[in-house]
Amino acid sequence: MSQPVYKGRCHCGGVQFEVQGGFGVVVCHCQDCQKLHGNAFAMIVIAPEQLVMQAEQSLTRYRSSDKVQRSFCNQCGSRLFKEPDDGQKLMVSMGLLGPETGLQIRKNVWVESKPDWYPLFEAVPE
Ligand SMILES: [Zn+2]
Ligand SMILES: [Zn+2]
Repeated sequence: MSQPVYKGRCHCGGVQFEVQGGFGVVVCHCQDCQKLHGNAFAMIVIAPEQLVMQAEQSLTRYRSSDKVQRSFCNQCGSRLFKEPDDGQKLMVSMGLLGPETGLQIRKNVWVESKPDWYPLFEAVPE
């Protein structure tokens, strides 16, 4: 059976890519994500080789900690990827995919850092 392929793009289209493979959605509630995304960060966690870039002329990286870079579109401001320096995995913002994905939230992380203004998302464990 062939792997699903998800098309992703930022709001302006300056960054476009495909993600190959199946996976669940993780929602991070940490303070870094709150500041950088404006709220919780819903992402898919993939291996770097599952990402195929098709356009990236407006992609800008920002070092958000000593172990992680995050990227955004320097034209439209879309949040794109979280890229740990170890190169083992890559997180892709869910909002760039879809709207039809067939995916579900599998896990909430950094729950202890969640602000008080929203309830936890319902997660469906695999
Ligand atoms: Zn853009
Ligand atoms: Zn986070």
